[in-house]
Amino acid sequence: MRAKRSKKYRKLMHQYELTFGFHEPYQVLVDSNFLRAVHQFKMDLIPALERTLQGKAKPLLSKCSLAAIMAAQPINPKTNKPYRPYHLPPPTELPLRHCSHNDDDTPIDEVECLLSLICPNTDTMRNKEHYILATAEPVPLPQDDVNSDNPKQRRQAEALMKERSEKAVALRSGARAVPGVPIIYVKRSVMVLEPFSIPSEKVRLGVEKSKFKVGMEAALDVVNNLKRKREDEEDGPSTSARDRTAKKAKAPNPLSMKKPKRREKQKPEEQGKKKDKKPEPDSRDEGTQDNAADAEGEQSGKKKRKRKHKSSKSGNAVESADGAVSNEVHSAGDD
Ligand SMILES: [Zn+2]
Repeated sequence: MRAKRSKKYRKLMHQYELTFGFHEPYQVLVDSNFLRAVHQFKMDLIPALERTLQGKAKPLLSKCSLAAIMAAQPINPKTNKPYRPYHLPPPTELPLRHCSHNDDDTPIDEVECLLSLICPNTDTMRNKEHYILATAEPVPLPQDDVNSDNPKQRRQAEALMKERSEKAVALRSGARAVPGVPIIYVKRSVMVLEPFSIPSEKVRLGVEKSKFKVGMEAALDVVNNLKRKREDEEDGPSTSARDRTAKKAKAPNPLSMKKPKRREKQKPEEQGKKKDKKPEPDSRDEGTQDNAADAEGEQSGKKKRKRKHKSSKSGNAVESADGAVSNEVHSAGDD
């Protein structure tokens, strides 16, 4: 595995540890498709899992997955029992995860079994046991006649494959719906760790809301500081000093006045101020007006944010508008 990918997976598992309380050794529920793929592509079960998860892994096979594997095996006519599957590792390497879904312990559908182990309660939607799901794209079984000359047999085999694919898709989308379920997936001989699902990402953002907000404010500060620095360099110190005075004079207005009023009132007022301060030749004056226009542009940016504050009363919008306002106050204080 390339260094870049292993670093990415290590970070991802670290996120699962922080957000959902995962810890080594990771418990990995492997399904029948996964075991077939691992065998077909000549991977070693535990080393491959540990490379992907960047940590110790403990694979487990549910009783219903075992039943599915055995049910798909051809029967040995001599013993009248299924052939031992080559892709089934010994219990020392892959212990059985006992599951009981009914009174007489009869196995149920593999996908249903795995989803119920991952999420025992659909009201709380929690992966309580911190399971990782390892699955794969289904591959045709040896006894599947997908290339058969008999059209009926071929159609049957194709229908079976289609069903398996649909179930594999359902398993993964079901697992993705539960926050905090890492999914390992084998497709065309590559074993990948899927990125955070949307529900996982939502929980992660919820858990780290304060961190996220601080990070956002810090990023905005950096951007604002860079912007100010660039303006100072472009305009020279005297112009920027004047810009700051102009900003200060405007500062109380955006919070207390309506946008059209302010535009009408301030433009002449501001231009008057600048002319009062420094009577300059025409060419220079144009430059000043450009600066004023720039300042106006900035103002309209602020106005937009304020308009949002007024028009939408939703919690989020108010929060972001508040953030913008406090940012303004902060930058004014800096000046
Ligand atoms: Zn089961």
